[in-house]
Amino acid sequence: MAGLVLDGGPPAREIEALVAARVAELRRQTGGSGPAAAAGRAPVLAILLVGAGQTATRHGQLKERACRRVGIEPLLVALPERTATTEVLARIERLNGDQRVDGIFLQHPLPRHVDERQCFDRIAAGKDVGGDSSLSLGRLATAAAGAVASPDTGGEPGFVAATPAAILALLSYYGLGVAGKRAVIVGRSPMVGKPMALLLLGAHATVTICHSRTRDLAGVVRRGEVVVGAVGKPELIKGRWIRDGAVVIDAGYHPFPERGSHGSGSGVSAGPAASTGATGDVELRAVADRCAAYTPVPGGVGPMTLAMLLVNTVTAAERAAALRTGPPPGRPR
Ligand code: NAP
Repeated sequence: MAGLVLDGGPPAREIEALVAARVAELRRQTGGSGPAAAAGRAPVLAILLVGAGQTATRHGQLKERACRRVGIEPLLVALPERTATTEVLARIERLNGDQRVDGIFLQHPLPRHVDERQCFDRIAAGKDVGGDSSLSLGRLATAAAGAVASPDTGGEPGFVAATPAAILALLSYYGLGVAGKRAVIVGRSPMVGKPMALLLLGAHATVTICHSRTRDLAGVVRRGEVVVGAVGKPELIKGRWIRDGAVVIDAGYHPFPERGSHGSGSGVSAGPAASTGATGDVELRAVADRCAAYTPVPGGVGPMTLAMLLVNTVTAAERAAALRTGPPPGRPR
């Protein structure tokens, strides 16, 4: 039987509606009172691109559009490919100090000559809406089991990385519990693989993390009841490696350069020769008919990641507004 398609569209739209309501409420609260009160300030998300390749530009545009849908103001900052680490850091410092900016999202990957880790770690904790700083990851690592299912870190500065948070939210939306299950993640980056492992651990899965030196990758993946592909290589994870009845999550997104990528359809990627516009890290067509559920590429994890970024941004704006004006009546500071 064909696996359940974990379409990211419906939950992302629900989350966006909730974010839009929170943005409207924030603007109402910060806009003064009385019938003639002006609408308050919209939250601002700075989207920092360094080296505007085709994919980076597309990612930037998608984030801009998503912001506009919910009333968040996007501030696109595009720096040339040759920008030095010191210049990126200086730009981040300026955005950190800019009272109008609530969130800063630095688009990964940066050009090779830029010290990416230093840049992520320079983003102020309260504005790290991508959740990519060492502090945000550290908070996730030390959170109590069962306490990290929400996309923020429980009121503390720092945020849960958007893509892993999106995956957990997607599983939850489709009622797929992971407690007690064997989860196998392929990829150990600090942006996807590691925070994903921490979130699944927090949700009581038994977690194995694989990487480029894992021996017998196929054998390890075969043990997974939940398999997460976060490897960054098109269809590296073969369908035949995956056991019948597994839940398959594909964080990868690789547009076909010759056709570009089109929208966020929910079809299964049928490999590089197909016309869906993108493929993922998992050979989905070879497993879609016998797994319990899978995320399509495009249209699975992607729309939910955008939604999580919006959630983190409005949360950052709410926290900043509370710091400026004090909490609403009845809520402790
Ligand atoms: P990354 O930083 O390049 O990390 C890739 C990971 O995959 C590394 O841990 C690497 O192992 C492992 N790997 C590489 N080749 C392997 C192999 N042959 N066998 C086993 N493991 C192997 O990539 P990333 O940024 O985490 O992204 C992962 C995927 O998620 C990509 O498809 C990307 O498009 C997608 N994604 C990323 C983001 C983001 O914010 N970065 C957001 C959404 C989606 P080593 O550690 O041993 O090198």
